[in-house]
Amino acid sequence: MTSLLSSLRRPLTRRAFSTNKNVLALRNIDPASPENSTDTYFVRTLSPGYSSCIAAKDLKAGEVIGTTVGTVYSTPTRFTIQMTLDKHVEIFGGMQYANHHCNPNASFIMSESEPQVSLVAIKPIAKGDHITFDYNTTEWDMDEKFTCNCGDAACRGDIQGAKHMHDAQVLRLLPHFSSSVMRSLLKHKLVQG
Ligand SMILES: [Zn+2]
Repeated sequence: MTSLLSSLRRPLTRRAFSTNKNVLALRNIDPASPENSTDTYFVRTLSPGYSSCIAAKDLKAGEVIGTTVGTVYSTPTRFTIQMTLDKHVEIFGGMQYANHHCNPNASFIMSESEPQVSLVAIKPIAKGDHITFDYNTTEWDMDEKFTCNCGDAACRGDIQGAKHMHDAQVLRLLPHFSSSVMRSLLKHKLVQG
């Protein structure tokens, strides 16, 4: 897998949109802190403001990389993962440093009612690989769009959320969309024809 992960989901300096002291404390810890690791993954800082969640052991397809509970907000930010169109969860503990890739090796399993997320391997992941997911599988219309340079042959370039994908791209990602994004895709299709 290429290590040229261009996206930056969680920089070191974050917008203080919450005054919750516990959230602020978690947000300010060093990404490479042991608090952001388990026996399954750890976080490596690749450059200032750019970190990545790395596999600490070989993982099989279908294996749960981790499960965590986060803090819910009503609007999306660059740090949140969409539960529903008006519920967006910010997670801590290391998996928040899983970056975007257009041909990812993992996927987030989202609940629409509880702020609990699981990151699951969707293909074998070797120890030391970057753990990645496709942001468009969980985001309908992204708060902060970006240009991806993941280097994959199928790299889509502009990453803006599932709303902006054409049918062939949707088909390719079909097994991995969250239920919320899947519902929005279906509604969009039925309304637009
Ligand atoms: Zn890409």
